[in-house]
Amino acid sequence: MTEFSLESFMAGVVRRNPGETEFHQAVREVATDIIPFEAKNPVFREARIFERLAEPDRVVSFRVCWETDRRRIHINRGYRVQWNNAIGPYKGGLRFHPSVNQSILKFLAFEQTFKNSLTGLPIGGAKGGSDFDPKGRSDAEIMRFCQAFMTELHRHIGPNTDVPAGDIGVGDREIGYLFGQYKRLQNAFEAVLTGKALEFGGSYMRPEATGYGVVYMMEEMLALKNEDLDGRTCVVSGSGNVALHCCQRLMHMGAKVVTLSDSSGFVHDPAGIDADKFAWVYDLKLSRRGRIEEYAKEFGCDFHAGERPWAVPCDLAYPCATQNELDEPDARSLVEGGCRAIAEGANMPSTPAAMKFLAEARVPHMPGKAANAGGVAVSGLEMSQNSQRFSWTRGEVNTKLHDIIRHIHEQCVRHGEESGFINYCRGANIGGYTKVAEAMLAYGVV
Ligand code: NDP
Repeated sequence: MTEFSLESFMAGVVRRNPGETEFHQAVREVATDIIPFEAKNPVFREARIFERLAEPDRVVSFRVCWETDRRRIHINRGYRVQWNNAIGPYKGGLRFHPSVNQSILKFLAFEQTFKNSLTGLPIGGAKGGSDFDPKGRSDAEIMRFCQAFMTELHRHIGPNTDVPAGDIGVGDREIGYLFGQYKRLQNAFEAVLTGKALEFGGSYMRPEATGYGVVYMMEEMLALKNEDLDGRTCVVSGSGNVALHCCQRLMHMGAKVVTLSDSSGFVHDPAGIDADKFAWVYDLKLSRRGRIEEYAKEFGCDFHAGERPWAVPCDLAYPCATQNELDEPDARSLVEGGCRAIAEGANMPSTPAAMKFLAEARVPHMPGKAANAGGVAVSGLEMSQNSQRFSWTRGEVNTKLHDIIRHIHEQCVRHGEESGFINYCRGANIGGYTKVAEAMLAYGVV
């Protein structure tokens, strides 16, 4: 066999995907663990499984034309990146944010493949979205954009082909508009999206699943050390779907959440967010679509413009906003401030330098592809319920979600244990890789 090193492999990835820095970052992070793993499992190496996994099955990009309320024509770019369907139909969210480009969606689709495998459910990996900025747009404009986006996307998806869901900028309002347009175009009521409202095939617990799952995961991590969440001070970033449900579940468990953030800065509430404050901020961010700064004004606490919350002393940290929001100096501040474990709600929120620092400091650090898998897990359960034309109760879905998170944690421990420390990042990579690799091996060269 020819010599195969991390650096030679990455040189090829960079050459074939020029300028796609987020994608390079995500591949390198996984490759660091999988290349040595394949060296010990030559059957995968000989079949060049990881090299195949570093190429998407396909990337579709398309024009999205739509009109504002003042009848101005706008042109955006839409994408669907179908990464790998070895273990099930493509599945992964849609992101509407001005930063969206091919590199970001490729990193997300690549990571999604490992995450979906970790859940144990039969779902492959994908991601999509657009550089459309929903901020400040009217409901009618959002509807027209979603309809225009789906008019092209519908050719590429289907209940057994590819089942998108939400992500940044795509919540239940957008899923409603997207599903309505798909149904009209296909003249069929098909379970082609997840995150639907309960009235048209949604699952209980889907809105809460990602954030709650992150907290269930932290409970598993603490239980290994005979600890729990009660009374712990928690720092959370973001204030969208994931951050708010993470915050809510932490409150239920007796923990104290002292920060939330958005792209303008963070609020620090040393007294902690209680049920009344939570109800207010939930309405602010998810219904009124306001700015987190208003929380500081309403409840008389500090707003730190343009800053991230990682220097606030805490026991536990939950990055729940976006990629690369936690760099090495932030990781250092967290550890100096007493942080003893991190569970990532966002996808790839930690930079490579932050990950290295945390591993060297031996801080238990659950990466997004494992910690936030509760969202796609309940999406998978939504697909199962839709196939049966039946709905499970909230309690039934919650029990299954809990079981899936426990199963993911077990895999991370099994594959990540190293002399008394659990390297959760390595555990997640190897655990996620193995099932996809076995399936690809079974298919031969395709
Ligand atoms: P939302 O759109 O509901 O919220 C995103 C939050 O992150 C907002 O508070 C937003 O602030 C903030 N944010 C976005 N971009 C930036 C930025 N560049 N800098 C600082 N803050 C930023 O998205 P979700 O809560 O759904 O997603 C959050 C993260 O969780 C993402 O990484 C997503 O991929 C991941 N995730 C989501 C899942 C889900 O089920 N929704 C499932 C698994 C992972 P602002 O309002 O100012 O834009």
